[in-house]
Amino acid sequence: MKDRKLRIKTTKGVKIKIKSRKPRAPVCSACRKKLKGTLNLKTVKQKNSARTKKRPERKYGGVLCSRCARQKIKEEIRSKNV
Ligand SMILES: [Zn+2]
Repeated sequence: MKDRKLRIKTTKGVKIKIKSRKPRAPVCSACRKKLKGTLNLKTVKQKNSARTKKRPERKYGGVLCSRCARQKIKEEIRSKNV
């Protein structure tokens, strides 16, 4: 089975080089833009880094981008008041 993270590259000789890819960047679940303030490292490094470094500390941080989060929060509040 082909591993998504590994890419095997054969050169002219017998040498086989294995290149490791970076994981895909986290995206906003609403508009599919890349999220800012999120880490995009390999799992071990990501595991060891601080939680505050992994995603912004607001509601929907690490799930929605700031624009979509703002809209969502507004919608929630407006729906509550009526
Ligand atoms: Zn968005």
